Amino acid sequence: MSEATRDIEALIELMARLPGLGPRSARRAVLHLIKKRGAVMAPLAKAMAEVATSARECAACGNIGTADICDICRDERRATGEICVVEDVADLWAMERGQAFKGRYHVLGGTLSALDAVGPEELRIPKLLARVRDEEIREVILALNATVDGQTTAHYIAEALDGSGVAVTSLAQGVPIGGELDYLDDGTIQAALRARKRL
Ligand SMILES: [Zn+2]
Repeated sequence: MSEATRDIEALIELMARLPGLGPRSARRAVLHLIKKRGAVMAPLAKAMAEVATSARECAACGNIGTADICDICRDERRATGEICVVEDVADLWAMERGQAFKGRYHVLGGTLSALDAVGPEELRIPKLLARVRDEEIREVILALNATVDGQTTAHYIAEALDGSGVAVTSLAQGVPIGGELDYLDDGTIQAALRARKRL
């Protein structure tokens, strides 16, 4: 194998590690990129290099952006007294696409899992409880996936906030059993947010 071919093979191998891409689609994507290297590949490489150095987690909510505090946390209009708790940044972005929620978020970074030994300290749950205390929060909306671990986590947080005077609600209607937020359409997310219920 020539050195040039080795570089391309290495690129295909890296691409194949992306979620949703196997070796076959990675090969197709790389071929496409090489054919469109002026219009697509060069700008993509530049954008990736930039984001690779600038991307960081928001120190308050865990969203991913390019500043220490994300746009949503910096926006005073979003200090509504509501925090929407999600498992992953992809869920936060899905909620934002739905455009139904005007408050702020809190990204847990996963769910409680006895099997994988994930406890509250491994997630951003202590940070959530501190925010509820410090930010004049009236309502915590649990927008967790309708999986066993998601619901276990929801109940843990509801119990931790019991007696704090804060309303704890969860998304209802719309989220299918075993469903993941990131795969829902915008309308379903809007309906689920509207139909949230007290735990
Ligand atoms: Zn933030």
